[in-house]
Amino acid sequence: MLASLTETADRFVHTPLLHHIGGKSTPSQSGDAIEVFDPSTGAVLTSVAMGSAQEVNLAVAAAEAAFPRWSRLSPAERAVFLHRLADALDKHAADLVQIESLNVGKAIVNTESFDIPFGNACVRYFADLVQHVAMDIPHALANIEARTHRVPYGVCGFIFPWNFPYDLLLWNIIPALAAGNTVVIKPSEITPLSTLFMMKLAQEVGIPDGVINIVIGDGSAGQALSEHPSIKRMSFTGSPRVGKMIGKTCGENLVPVKLELGGKGAAVVFDDADLDATAAQLANAITFNTGQVCCTATRWMFHDSIYDALLEKTTAILNGTRLGPALDRETQMGPLVSKAHYDRVWQHLEKGKAQGAQIILEPKAAKPAGFEHGYYMTHSLLAGAPDNVCCREEVFGPSAYILRFKDEAEAIRLVNSISYGLANSVWSRDLARANRVAEQMVAGNSWINAHNVFAYGLPYRAVNLSGLGGGVNSPETLLDYLRPQTIARPLA
Ligand code: NAD
Repeated sequence: MLASLTETADRFVHTPLLHHIGGKSTPSQSGDAIEVFDPSTGAVLTSVAMGSAQEVNLAVAAAEAAFPRWSRLSPAERAVFLHRLADALDKHAADLVQIESLNVGKAIVNTESFDIPFGNACVRYFADLVQHVAMDIPHALANIEARTHRVPYGVCGFIFPWNFPYDLLLWNIIPALAAGNTVVIKPSEITPLSTLFMMKLAQEVGIPDGVINIVIGDGSAGQALSEHPSIKRMSFTGSPRVGKMIGKTCGENLVPVKLELGGKGAAVVFDDADLDATAAQLANAITFNTGQVCCTATRWMFHDSIYDALLEKTTAILNGTRLGPALDRETQMGPLVSKAHYDRVWQHLEKGKAQGAQIILEPKAAKPAGFEHGYYMTHSLLAGAPDNVCCREEVFGPSAYILRFKDEAEAIRLVNSISYGLANSVWSRDLARANRVAEQMVAGNSWINAHNVFAYGLPYRAVNLSGLGGGVNSPETLLDYLRPQTIARPLA
């Protein structure tokens, strides 16, 4: 049964929305706007202003103006604002769940259990943590009185993708704000709604004008933000293609940058793994958020001796997965995020087939009754040679590619044979082996007997094509937004 919309969510997702600059809802100077769609129905929800360099300039100026006051507050004073924001986000959790599900096409049971509560917890985590950061660290030196002083950078720029708009927003901007920076955000133009709703609540709880600014726009607005001379620190989450461009720009301007990019996670399953538990989590890996998850397991590597048994168990679970509209509480997998992305996933799978992939479960266009215009695709499983495009590059849909291996060395070689380095998992009851393999898989994150493991305090990072410059969700993330400065005085 479809969840009925709360009054607040209903009104919000059907109201034309503008940029948020210096505390004001601001239209584009050009008057440009674009439509925002509901991927479950293919219908237009609302429209949002489309910004350009002009709005970016205004937003950066507003953030610069707000910086002196915000940065001079004590960490405890900023924490009060952030806890008030967390209170408001918790109070409006039901609205946020619906707004995020509607805009992204996420199964509401997942938004309810993961996206919104986990995002909200991030605000409290960094609000508490910042009160315990040593802002001055003395150095024990002969004949010099010296300390390292930590200060916020200034205006930080953030560019986000569409797959986890709410969590990625909070994981990234909250540590920056807690540290005393002010921010300019460019959300994905496809999924800006939860970001704008968070902004409404931030304003209601009194976060000062200009501390958080939002410019909605496409790549050109993102480019203007990353090139802006007043940006002191950049953070980009998205594809490696765009990440490289941002990295280049920041390199030229000598602006520190954090890049959180794509992945092609492997799950290495040994013959002594708990096959039922593994099958359930592998199926979930490609159906959760319709497989649009950067770190999820999409290269499944099964030991020869359990290949058939594990495939059978996983296929049975996948075939029982309920595909449907985001707001249906029975739905386990929603639509893909947009028509353009649906076409991209389809073409990617076609390319894999053309390169000779064996089709274990064929992807199909799906049309749930009453939702025939939504962007639904069934799960798929491919297998074959490791150089297939579907095994080497992100599909970013409900699909996995399966490989066989004979021994530990072969599994590790296969895992490390691609350029991504985001997250992999190893599945075995032999924890000595699991830990040994976990250490040798080259990535920011290695998980044991689980995939997609997130907790505040557990750093989530990337290497190689998956990113650089730090990660999220840990004390290090907060320190990333504090510039260390040495202060020293020779003693007579
Ligand atoms: P994308 O790179 O196409 O777009 C990301 C953002 O960059 C959007 O806001 C877009 O408007 C903007 N952009 C586009 N061109 C730009 C330019 N030239 N300059 C500045 N900004 C520009 O990515 P996407 O399709 O929105 O998201 C999917 C990708 O994000 C996947 O590769 C996925 O793996 C990755 N991702 C990574 C993480 C992580 O934590 N590592 C998390 C989520 C998603």
